[in-house]
Amino acid sequence: TDPNNTLNECAGGLQYAQTVFEGLKAYTTEDGHIVTFRPDLNAERMMASAERLEMPVFPKDRFIDAVNQVVTVNEAFVPPYGSGATLYIRPYMFGSTPVIGVKPADEYQFRILTTPVGPYFKEGFKPVQIQIVEDADRAAPLGTGTLKVGGNYAASLRSGQRAHDEGFSNVLYLDAKEKKYIDEAGAANFFGIKNNTYCTPKSSSILPSITNMSLRQLAEDMGLKVEQRQIPVEELSTFEEVAACGTAAVISPIGKIVDRGTGKVYDYGTEAGPICTKLYKQLKGIQEGEVEDVHNWNLIVE
Ligand code: PLP
Repeated sequence: TDPNNTLNECAGGLQYAQTVFEGLKAYTTEDGHIVTFRPDLNAERMMASAERLEMPVFPKDRFIDAVNQVVTVNEAFVPPYGSGATLYIRPYMFGSTPVIGVKPADEYQFRILTTPVGPYFKEGFKPVQIQIVEDADRAAPLGTGTLKVGGNYAASLRSGQRAHDEGFSNVLYLDAKEKKYIDEAGAANFFGIKNNTYCTPKSSSILPSITNMSLRQLAEDMGLKVEQRQIPVEELSTFEEVAACGTAAVISPIGKIVDRGTGKVYDYGTEAGPICTKLYKQLKGIQEGEVEDVHNWNLIVE
């Protein structure tokens, strides 16, 4: 189908950012099935995003059915098992009819685009460097940070670009109100490991990552303690391992964090830590059908 879309120039999505989206992947498993990973949670998150922007809520069963249909007709583009590549799926919805005063649009389009994406770690599972910023927020505590809405990403572009220009792969945001606690790492959640404990921020302005939710369960399964709580910036120096997590990379180990404001450097070494590596292998293994899916997370498309 045609990827171009003719819209009225006053469309609510264009003028007032009435846009929500999701991101998930289809994987080919070792035994030759095509699966998606926990699409029910993407459906629920998109429902929450739409509700907050005064958009109609797209029903969960129709969301899952639409994702299945898109993957099925694009079967030829789902990369084979073992390639490390996947089919990225981007369901999205936006106000498509004209509005001139600030109000919700009358009509919306729900669409799904899909594209194969290569393996995330081309040079192996290597730690990245990220940058703490104090002079920009991506979302406010009572704003839309917990949702996948276009505006959050627009607000993050400038600090993200600057971090890249300064040699970092991502930004680590602090809480918008006090600048005391870790929020999240660009388009990924943050976690740290110490004393056999998986610690991840609790915050009213971060996206509830489906990967993070799954890793918390796997950490528990492995006998780690799990803590979801505020993490003060100074606590960074006490972690044995730190990482970012999300659909794109599953886990992206962090080797160094530099605080752009204070110049303070937190160093975690040049190799991924043992617990991050184990969690990564376990979750990837489930997605690719190499590890038993005891929690029933994979949905078989065909
Ligand atoms: N945080 C933000 C801001 C994101 O855009 C994403 C990407 O999806 C995540 C975290 C990770 O969430 P998930 O694990 O559901 O992909």
